[in-house]
Amino acid sequence: MEGYTIRLVEEADESCCPKCGKHSAARSGLKLFAEEHDQPVCRTCGKKWAPTMVALLDLAVTAERVGKSCRHLLTPPMESLLDLAHAAENYSHRAPKLRAG
Ligand SMILES: [Zn+2]
Repeated sequence: MEGYTIRLVEEADESCCPKCGKHSAARSGLKLFAEEHDQPVCRTCGKKWAPTMVALLDLAVTAERVGKSCRHLLTPPMESLLDLAHAAENYSHRAPKLRAG
């Protein structure tokens, strides 16, 4: 089975998804990569081939956004907490069950 990784892209160029050829705009941030390709996989293909990794990516992106916007607040807005809870729940549904030990 093909491996996938999440990488931080600091200087993004326009790219084409290696799976379907879909064009994506240059945007920095966390992206999903298939192990043997240098270009990030688009969200549609990611959901098809590596749904767990997409859910993890969503969780990381949501956590980053909530963390940034709530850094100076004593109590984060309910909407942010719900977004984070939703992303976490999504990931935990897709994550492989890990055995302790
Ligand atoms: Zn694609």
